[in-house]
Amino acid sequence: MTVFFDILLFISSILLIVGLRKLSHPESANNGNILAAISVGLGIIVSIFYPMETQNNNYLFIALGIIIGGIIGLIAAKKVAMTAMPEMVSLFNGFGGFSAALISLIWLINHNSSGGYADLSVVLFNLFLGFVAFTGSMVAFGKLSGKLKDNHLKIPYASIVNITLLILAVVLIGVFAYQGKLTHVHLILFTVLSIIYGVTFVAPIGGADMPVVISLLNSLTGITAAISGVMTDNKLMLLGGILVGSSGIILTLLMCVAMNRSLVAVLFGSFSSAKAGETANSVNGVIKEISVSDLAIQLAYTERVAIIPGYGMAVAQAQKIVKDVENLLASKGVELKYTIHPVAGRMPGHMNVLLAEANVNYDKLLDLEESNEYLSSTDVAIVVGANDVVNPSAKEDPSSKIYGMPILDLSQTKNVVVLKRGMNPGYAGIENPLFFKDNTKMLFSDAKKSLESILSELKQL
Ligand code: NDP
Repeated sequence: MTVFFDILLFISSILLIVGLRKLSHPESANNGNILAAISVGLGIIVSIFYPMETQNNNYLFIALGIIIGGIIGLIAAKKVAMTAMPEMVSLFNGFGGFSAALISLIWLINHNSSGGYADLSVVLFNLFLGFVAFTGSMVAFGKLSGKLKDNHLKIPYASIVNITLLILAVVLIGVFAYQGKLTHVHLILFTVLSIIYGVTFVAPIGGADMPVVISLLNSLTGITAAISGVMTDNKLMLLGGILVGSSGIILTLLMCVAMNRSLVAVLFGSFSSAKAGETANSVNGVIKEISVSDLAIQLAYTERVAIIPGYGMAVAQAQKIVKDVENLLASKGVELKYTIHPVAGRMPGHMNVLLAEANVNYDKLLDLEESNEYLSSTDVAIVVGANDVVNPSAKEDPSSKIYGMPILDLSQTKNVVVLKRGMNPGYAGIENPLFFKDNTKMLFSDAKKSLESILSELKQL
C-alpha cells in the first residue's frame, strides 16, 4: 500500500516541477497553475491517507480544516482586488510559515521536548524560521496594505537589536540541543523570541526595499516547508519547500541587483529607518500640463512610443485600455513597446501579469536594460501611474533615499507624458523631479479615464 502512495507522491512531484516550469512564461502560465494545483491537491489527499506507524483518527479535524480553510481561501481569492494581491500573497505566505512552526511545536510536545542533538537543533531551527516567516509576513502585509506606515513600528537601534536577537536564538538552539531537553518555560520563551524577531526583522525595512524582504520571507517559508517535509517524511512537501526556498533566494538576489542594493544593506541598512520621517526634497520648478487632444495628435504622428506602467495602472485597472491604444497606434504604423521596471507595482512581475491579462504580446515587453536603450530614442513615453521607478533622483541626487536604484531613464526621451491623478508621491514617499523637467508634461486624471479619452480622440484622427 505504501508503494502505491509513494508512486502517487512521485507523480505529484513531477506535476509540481512541470507546473512551476510552465509558470515562467505567460503563455503557458495558466496550464502551469492548473498542473501545480492538481499536484498540491493530490499531495494533500495522499498525505491524509498515507499509512503511518501511529495512525491517529483525526479525519474529522482534517475535514473541518479543509472545509473552513477552503471556504475562506475561495472567498478571499474571489473577492481580492488585483491591487491587493501582493498583501494577500504576504498573508498566505505567513500562514505557510505558521503551519511549519506548528509542525515543530507539535513534534516537541509529542517528544516531551527532548531528543538527540541533530533532531532538536533542526526542529528548533524550523520553529524559529516558521514564526519569523509568520510574524514577518504579517508586518509586511500591514505595510503593503498601507495599514502600517514605516514610522509606526520604530525600533531604536534596530540593527543592534536584530543582530542580538539572532545571535541569542542561534545560541539557545545550540544550548537546548546540547542539553537534549527543554522545559515548558524554555519552549514558551523561545517561541516568544521567534515571534518578536519576525516583527523586529521586518519592521525597520520599508520603502523601496519591500520587494526584497517579501521575496526573502517567501524563501524562508519554503525552507521551513522543506524541513517540515523531512520531519513528517513527506517527500512532496520537501520538494515543494526546496523549490520555493531556492527560487525565493534567487529572486531575492535578483531583486537586490535590480535595486542596486546588497542584501546586507537591505536587512541592516534599513531604507526607512535611516531616513524615516525625512520629508521629500522639495523640488522647484513649473509643472506643465498637456491636453488629451494634443497628446492624441502627438501620438498619431510619431514613430516610436513607450508605455511605462506602474502601480497606478494596477489601481486604475488600465491595462486593457492600454492594449486598445497599442492596437490603434499599430494600425497607424506607430511602433509601441512596454518598458518594465523589475519593481514596478507591488509584487515581482506585477506589470507582466496585468499586461498578460490584457493579451499584450510578450515580445513587446522590454526589461530594464532593453527599456533604457529604447527610451533613449523614443518620441513619446507615456508614464501610466509609475512614479518611483522613473524618479531621476536615483541618478542625480546622492542625498535621496533611492540614490543608486536603477531607474527607467527618461532624460533622452523627446516627450514624456505622465498620467496620474495628482502630485502624490509613490511608495517610497519622495517627490519626483521628473514631473518638473523640460521634456515632461502632466495629464492629471485617473489613468484609465485619461487613456479612454486618448483612445476616442485617436479614433477621430
Ligand atoms: P509608485 O508607488 O512609485 O507610484 C504609483 C503612482 O501611481 C502614485 O504616485 C500615484 O499618484 C499614481 N496612481 C495611483 N492611482 C492612480 C490612478 N488610478 N490613476 C493614475 N495614477 C495613479 O509606483 P511604481 O510602480 O513607480 O513603483 C513601485 C514602488 O513600490 C517602488 O518604490 C517599489 O520599490 C515599491 N514596491 C514594489 C514591490 C514589488 O515587488 N514590485 C513590492 C513592494 C513595494 P497619484 O495618487 O497622484 O495618482
